[in-house]
Amino acid sequence: METKKICLLPGDGIGPEIIAEGVKVLDAVGKKYDVAFDYEEALIGGCAIDAVGNPLPEETLDAARASDAVLLAAVGGPKWDTTDSSKPRPEQGLLGIRKQLGLYTNLRPVRIFDALRDASTLKPAVVEGVDLVIVRELTGGLYFGHRERFYDEEGAGAHGGRGQRAVDTLEYREYEIERIARQAFRAAQSRHGRVHSIDKANVLDTSRLWREVVHRVHDEEFPEIELVDMLVDNTAMQLVNNPRQFDVIVTENMFGDILSDEAAQITGSLGMLASASLGDGVGLFEPSHGSAPDIAGRGIANPLAQILSVGMMLQYAFGMVDAANDVTRAVSQVLDEGWRTGDLATSATPADKVMGTVAMGDLVARHIAG
Ligand code: NAD
Repeated sequence: METKKICLLPGDGIGPEIIAEGVKVLDAVGKKYDVAFDYEEALIGGCAIDAVGNPLPEETLDAARASDAVLLAAVGGPKWDTTDSSKPRPEQGLLGIRKQLGLYTNLRPVRIFDALRDASTLKPAVVEGVDLVIVRELTGGLYFGHRERFYDEEGAGAHGGRGQRAVDTLEYREYEIERIARQAFRAAQSRHGRVHSIDKANVLDTSRLWREVVHRVHDEEFPEIELVDMLVDNTAMQLVNNPRQFDVIVTENMFGDILSDEAAQITGSLGMLASASLGDGVGLFEPSHGSAPDIAGRGIANPLAQILSVGMMLQYAFGMVDAANDVTRAVSQVLDEGWRTGDLATSATPADKVMGTVAMGDLVARHIAG
């Protein structure tokens, strides 16, 4: 029997609750396809700060590097929130592991499950048939540029002693744009052949470089793909106005972060959005939402984004396309039968049957078995 090593990073908040359901689904897939999944759990985020004072311990990186794929839940929570930049923060674990594993591509599919048309805050006629993927650059830009906080004597003089200044740097190199553009064009080749490249080229120099490089890669390597440039502010509007126009959206790190949360809302809940972070080595798979501290420990979190991340792991890390399709089909069937976690239930659909995290995981796993 084939064995795949998976590094599990439950993290904080609802993390341990939802990752358990991801594992349940993987085990059901393993049984069906005769594959053994071998799990090693490691610390990341706030729980790692509590245990060893470091949001990304060396042992965690070693476990991730030694695995065939990493399944992460979420990190963070009010317990570790601080504006003191000398204190460790859970998010440093997440940014650190992405950087250390060279995960420069983040894929976030946004599709509407038929049964959830009414769960969106947008009209069913607007969201029906939405099927897009956001390709977000993940290891460059503002989140990784030089940052600094300092006291500015001159500013303090002019503004009554209030002289603090903070600087974040937005920087992109040509090769970083080239490789993410290629990922987007390749994704479009296996989809509907259209890429929207999102930037702010009317203002930012990094965006002008972005646009030049994306067009060069397109013209030289993917001329058959339709390429559309769109400014980020317009994109924010178009996503809620006419989301069906998008097939593949490629954008830099911060724009991608914001637009993908907006796009998630089209689906009705952040709890439905999976993601894959890929580089040239081991990949990392995680839901797009955070650790939802407001509902942690209550058994009501929606595990479907985590479960759909398992589906992406099967597809991208292990090439198990049939198994990946099984996961999506099982989720779809469960929703079609009317089962919902609390975040998905709407008063517009009184037939919704509300259930908790564990029951939802059980049901999906049962549908995988067939
Ligand atoms: P969040 O995504 O955790 O929660 C936003 C809202 O969505 C909350 O009301 C929450 O209850 C709900 N929600 C999220 N996931 C859900 C699920 N699976 N089922 C049901 N409801 C769900 O974002 P936030 O509140 O801004 O951040 C909370 C913490 O998570 C912060 O510490 C933040 O830094 C961290 N965070 C982590 C990640 C990550 O680990 N990738 C991403 C975003 C935020």
